[in-house]
Amino acid sequence: MELILLGPPGAGKGTQSKLLETRYGVAQISTGDMLRAEVKAGTPIGLEAKSIMDAGKLVSDDILIRMIGERIKRPDCAKGFILDGFPRTVPQAEALDKLLHEQAVDLDAVIELKVDEAILVERISGRYSCAKCGEGYHDKFKQPKTPGVCDACGGTEFIRRPDDKAETVHARLEAYNAQTAPILPYYRARGRLFTVDGMAEMDEVEAQIEAVLRGLGVAAA
Ligand code: ADP
Ligand code: ADP
Ligand code: ZN
Repeated sequence: MELILLGPPGAGKGTQSKLLETRYGVAQISTGDMLRAEVKAGTPIGLEAKSIMDAGKLVSDDILIRMIGERIKRPDCAKGFILDGFPRTVPQAEALDKLLHEQAVDLDAVIELKVDEAILVERISGRYSCAKCGEGYHDKFKQPKTPGVCDACGGTEFIRRPDDKAETVHARLEAYNAQTAPILPYYRARGRLFTVDGMAEMDEVEAQIEAVLRGLGVAAA
């Protein structure tokens, strides 16, 4: 299965792609996570990306296209992948088409998670994650079962992203509207775009995505 989850920051791409990764046995690829790993490791890409990410802008197409080109060739992508956060511009979408064509794979679907802006701000400002395993949480919408203890790994340290502050969220939404939203007609014209109501409860969103995939004949693992 080759799937793209598309949507503004806070729409639930990370949450849903992790659920789908388990269910469909394919690799979840988050370009945001990959870039944050580069920043943490202090690589040349990380050094270049950090200030751009902190400002809520998009890192260059060049870097992202190179990163994804290498990533989807790795063995864990043999059964397919879910892209979370890529493509984010039309040139990235065009480059992805070329990469997929070279590997003779076909995109199954692009699923757009639609969420109102007011809700996005609330989702992003309440977001945090486990420092040890990366499991995602929310102050209001997804708290650990035992307060202060990660459900997934038992970790007790949590982190918030520096770009999740209210001031930066505005810039990120602007980048989405100006640079990423134009991808929607690109995929719509190719008959690949499916829109799901991202404002529903998490398991309801998951069910809607699975219904789309079932309709396309994609079976769970
Ligand atoms: P994205 O990867 O698109 O930026 P996330 O998956 O990180 O979005 O979700 C943003 C925040 O909103 C997280 O804290 C997550 O727990 C929460 N969240 C995700 N989906 C829902 C939902 N359907 N309802 C309520 N909160 C959600
Ligand atoms: P969110 O989950 O809120 O949508 P991500 O974790 O996907 O955010 O991305 C965080 C930041 O990383 C973005 O604001 C941007 O600076 C950078 N980034 C991630 N993916 C891309 C991409 N495909 N193109 C350009 N920049 C990207
Ligand atoms: Zn954890």
